[in-house]
Amino acid sequence: MAKVSINLATGSLQKEELIVGIDLGTTNSLVAFINPDGNPQVINDTGKGLLVPSIIHFQADGSIVVGNEAKEFLTSDPENTIFSVKRLLGRSYQDIARYRDFFSYKVIDDNSESLVKIKVGDKFYTPIELSGFILKELKERAEHALKIPVNRAVITVPAYFNDSQRQATRDAGKLAGLDVLRIVNEPTAASLAYGIGLNPDEEKTIAVYDLGGGTFDVSILKIQNGIFEVLSTNGDTFLGGDDFDRAILNYWITENNLDPEVLANDQILNQGLRLKAEEAKKALSTQNLYNDSLNGIPLAISKQKFEELIAPKVQETLDCCKKALVDGGTKAEEIQEVIMVGGSTRTPMVKERVAAFFGKAVHDQINPDQVVALGAAIQSDILAGNRSDILLLDVTPLSLGIETMGGLMDVIIPRNSKVPTKAGRQYTTSVDGQVNMKISVFQGERDLVNENRKLAEFELKGIPAMPAGLPKVDINFLLNADGILTVQAVELRSGVKQEVAIKPSYGLTDAEVEQMLLDSIQHAQADVQQRMLIEARTEGEQMLYTAERFLEKNSAYLQENEIVETKTYIEALRASLNAGDKDLIHAKIDELNEYTRPFAERVMDMAISQAMKGKQIE
Ligand code: AMP
Repeated sequence: MAKVSINLATGSLQKEELIVGIDLGTTNSLVAFINPDGNPQVINDTGKGLLVPSIIHFQADGSIVVGNEAKEFLTSDPENTIFSVKRLLGRSYQDIARYRDFFSYKVIDDNSESLVKIKVGDKFYTPIELSGFILKELKERAEHALKIPVNRAVITVPAYFNDSQRQATRDAGKLAGLDVLRIVNEPTAASLAYGIGLNPDEEKTIAVYDLGGGTFDVSILKIQNGIFEVLSTNGDTFLGGDDFDRAILNYWITENNLDPEVLANDQILNQGLRLKAEEAKKALSTQNLYNDSLNGIPLAISKQKFEELIAPKVQETLDCCKKALVDGGTKAEEIQEVIMVGGSTRTPMVKERVAAFFGKAVHDQINPDQVVALGAAIQSDILAGNRSDILLLDVTPLSLGIETMGGLMDVIIPRNSKVPTKAGRQYTTSVDGQVNMKISVFQGERDLVNENRKLAEFELKGIPAMPAGLPKVDINFLLNADGILTVQAVELRSGVKQEVAIKPSYGLTDAEVEQMLLDSIQHAQADVQQRMLIEARTEGEQMLYTAERFLEKNSAYLQENEIVETKTYIEALRASLNAGDKDLIHAKIDELNEYTRPFAERVMDMAISQAMKGKQIE
C-alpha cells in the first residue's frame, strides 16, 4: 500500500515518496518534480535559487559546499574549487589530456588508461564522487523544500554519453543515496517538457539545439509510437556562451588598448571584466546597446557589434546541425519541431539563425535552463506509472563486438542499433582440449580490434576438454535502455557460464567517436584487404593444424611417399602464411586440400571398416 502524507510545503496530500528529475549539468544543475497539480516544476529551496551551480568547494576545515556558495571561491581558491566535473565523468586522463589547461584544479594522470582523479589537498576524488556531492546537494534541497524523503530519481545525460559516462552518472546517484531509475537523454527530456512525443500516435522528426555556457550539442530525434529514437548527435564540447563572453572581453581589450600581460597578472580586474562581459551579453539579449565602465575603463558594445563578433561561433553550431542532419539521414525541411535548450539560446541571434537554418520557428517558450529538468520530472512521472507508458529509445554511437582469431573485430551490435537491444553469436574453440576462452569486448568501427577501443576482457573458464570446434559458446550482448552493456558467455554443452557488466575503464570524447568513424571510412579499403589477409591466414593455420593432426593419427594408413609429399605441401602452406599474400595462402590451402582429399576418404573408409570389425580407432 502506498503511504500518503500531508506535504507541509504544498499543503496537499502527497504520496510518501516521489521521484525527482535531475538535470546534472556542466555549469548548473537543477532538480524538478511533478507538483500536486500534475505539472512539472523546478524545486526552489527557499533563498537558494533554482539553478545550483555545478561547483564544489573544499573548505579549509574539510567541509564541502556546493552551488553558489562554492562559486564564490572560483577565483579566490581555484585549487580547491571544482567546476565542470561533468566533463571528467567516465573519462580517462588520455581522454582529457588536451584540455588539461582548462582545469584550474589538479587532474591526476597516474595511469593514462584508468579514470581520472582529482586531487584536493592530500585527498583524491573521482569525478563520480564529486558528481555525487552535487546530486546529494540537489537531493537535500528537494527534501528540504518538499519536506519528504527523496530517494529515487531520473537523471539526464547528453545523448552522446557513452557506456562509461552513463554508468558513472548512475554510480554518482548511488553515492548520493539515490536509486537512479533511469538515465534519460537530455534532448528526450527537453522534448517531453514541450509535450512532444507524449501522444503515442504522434510521428515526428525533431531537432534539439542545446547551447549552454561551455558546451554545444544538437540531436536529431525520431518520435514514433511513443518511442524516442536518437537518429544522430553532433556538437562541440568546448563551444558555448563562454566564447561569447570572451569575444566581448577581447573586443574591449582591443578598444581600450589594454595590455594582455597586465591583465593576466591582475586576476581581480580580469575576473571583473569577464563578469561585465557576461552582463553585457545578457543585456544585449533584450537591448541594443550596453554601456558601463570598470575602474575607469569604458565598457560599451552595441548589439550589432556583438552579433558580428559571435557570428563565426554561431555558424560553427549550424555546421554541426548540418552534420547531424546528414548522419541522421534527414534534411532540414523534414524537421518538424526545433527545441531550444541552454542559457545561450536566449541570445536573439542564435534563435534567428537556428530558425532560418531549419526554416521554421523554434520552441523557446519554456525557460531554456529548466527545460531538461522539467522533462526529467515528466519522465519520472511516467516511470511512477502516472502516465501512459512511453518507451525511450536511443542508439548506440559505436559498434560493439568481440575479438576473433587474428585480432579481427566481430561486430555483435552494429553502430546505430536502437537500445535496449540484445544480440548474440555462437563461437567455438580453435584448439583441441581448450578449456578456457578469452573474450575481449571492443567498441569501434575498424576491422582490426587494435584500432578500436577495448572495453573489457574476461575468461570463460572450465569448458570441458573437447576436440576443437565441438564446444558451442554462445556470446550474448545485452545493451540496456541506459546504454550499459552486459556480456554473457555460455558453453552450451556443459552450461559453463560467465557474465560481466561492462564498466569500461575509460570513456571516449565526442571528437574521438567522430574520429573513429572517420578513420573507419578512410581506412575501409585497407581494412578490407587486411581482414581478408587475416582470414586467409587463420584459415591456413587451421588447415595446418588439421593436416598435421591427420598425419599424426593416420600415418599407419598412409604410404611413405604420401607422408613426405603431404609434408611438403604443409611446409609450402606454412611458408605462404607470412608472405602477406592472401591469394598465395588460398592457393596453398587448395593444393594441400587437393592432394590429401583422396587419403582422407581412404582413411575414413578404413576407419569405418575397422570400426565395423569391432576395433576402436582414435
Ligand atoms: P547553461 O549552461 O545552460 O546554464 O547556460 C549558461 C549560459 O547561458 C551562460 O553562458 C550564460 O551567460 C548564458 N545566458 C544566461 N542568460 C542569458 C541571456 N539572457 N542571454 C544570453 N545568454 C545568457
